Amino acid sequence: YVKAVWKMPPRLPPLPALRDFIHLYKLRAKKILSQNFLMDMNITRKIVRAAGVRDGDWVCEVGPGPGGITRGILEAGASRVDVIEIDHRFIPALQHLSEAAEGRLHIHRADVLKTCVGEVWRENGFPSASHWLDDRAPPAHVIGNLPFNIASPLIIKYLREMSNRAGPWTCGRVPLTLTFQLEVARRLCSPIDNESRSRISIMAQMYTDPRLVFSEGISAATIIPGACFVPPPKVDVGVVRFVPRAVPAASSPFEVVEKLVRQVFHYRQKYVLKGLKTLYPEEIAEDRAHELLREVRVSPSTTSIRLGVEEYAAMAASARPLPITLDSLASLPNAVPAPYAYAHCSIMPSEGMRLRD
Ligand code: SAM
Repeated sequence: YVKAVWKMPPRLPPLPALRDFIHLYKLRAKKILSQNFLMDMNITRKIVRAAGVRDGDWVCEVGPGPGGITRGILEAGASRVDVIEIDHRFIPALQHLSEAAEGRLHIHRADVLKTCVGEVWRENGFPSASHWLDDRAPPAHVIGNLPFNIASPLIIKYLREMSNRAGPWTCGRVPLTLTFQLEVARRLCSPIDNESRSRISIMAQMYTDPRLVFSEGISAATIIPGACFVPPPKVDVGVVRFVPRAVPAASSPFEVVEKLVRQVFHYRQKYVLKGLKTLYPEEIAEDRAHELLREVRVSPSTTSIRLGVEEYAAMAASARPLPITLDSLASLPNAVPAPYAYAHCSIMPSEGMRLRD
């Protein structure tokens, strides 16, 4: 009796080990750019599995560096991988990988903060965009292990794009998997009334269902120890997978939600009333903030971390601006977001006109 063992066909021909690859292409991590490479292929494969990459999927990887995660994605059978890398030193190593991947890997030397992944996919004929409300996500993913100082602005850019169904989210509810400094990863997923709840928790949970991956409830299992990176960062790392919500909690413009949440968390130790008052000109701030809280049935003496995303969404929807006149425009503090004011403005602002104009 011989037990038949079915083996997956190799998805990549043999390549030099990652460590040798780095020596071959003389790739030294630049501390100043917070570059830390993931050298353990077991971990890179685990990230790719957690992201849910399957045979035939399209993947955009942001900040591939020497390509550890990229290898994992190609091994998982992705049919098209677009990598966006800002540092030219990594391009020859990525080209080596691209030759091995026989046409599946496409390299873009660009800044991820200025690149529209959706455009790259559409220009190349993304095959299977799905309807936003479909239960099944489209067969596409955005994945990245970026420097921490890029990951935070990037998640805000991506949440804004999700809320507008722009960028990669023109193709449907594409899941996003990114690494963060563990503390930030925990904040992103932080539940109501938790000390680590912050502005970023509300924004992430307003538009997505963020989950710390590898998490089976044991905190040690949710992290990648800093020692798995070369050079090791001073902090541990958490991987968060964001699945866009079919129906985001908020229907107000992203800028309004962001501004309101920012103001409330600016005074996180104080009552929500204090943050809300800063949205209005001083002479009417007290009345308007009380009125708003009454409308959404939120106690003025609750604090930022005790409110759920639905309550923030309701506050954003009720935060009606003042009837706008030229006088009131002049007196508005910068706290009121311009697009919101414009949306309710009876005067059409001319091109380039700023709120203060
Ligand atoms: N993903 C690789 C890994 O896990 O080993 C490299 C990780 S390293 C922390 C971050 C990578 O992102 C570097 O290769 C860096 O050059 C790249 N990067 C940093 N800022 C970027 C940006 N704005 N756009 C594109 N790539 C960026």
